[in-house]
Amino acid sequence: MKLNGFSSLLNGDSESQSREDNKIELLGCPFGGNNCKKQLAVINNSYTDSAKYQNEKNYQKAIELLKSAYYKTHELQKTSCVKCAGLFRTTITKSLEDMHKELERMSTGIFRNKRYYGVYVEAGNALKELSQQD
Ligand SMILES: [Zn+2]
Repeated sequence: MKLNGFSSLLNGDSESQSREDNKIELLGCPFGGNNCKKQLAVINNSYTDSAKYQNEKNYQKAIELLKSAYYKTHELQKTSCVKCAGLFRTTITKSLEDMHKELERMSTGIFRNKRYYGVYVEAGNALKELSQQD
């Protein structure tokens, strides 16, 4: 994890990395991460664990972790890292949206699996919940 980097944008080949490695990084924090690295470490942990659970198809747990990561960004509103909080949130929300789409495919297609329908609805609710936070 890079804490002092504008550089991660420049050499960013995150597309080629595996999902697990694709953690949230600081981009252009006005304080070089001094005010937000503690929260970011917690957020990154939840985020990484969430990706693992998603791979194991434990979507319930994956959604919970993304939500808790999102709520952690609220602590940054009190510092001047509003921009960092915004970036983290965008990343977290995007992951939740991707998971929601994945679950939609799994629970509504020809090969639908009823097992995932409940958690598909839950992912949708979580997205709504988070979108009402801002
Ligand atoms: Zn920051």
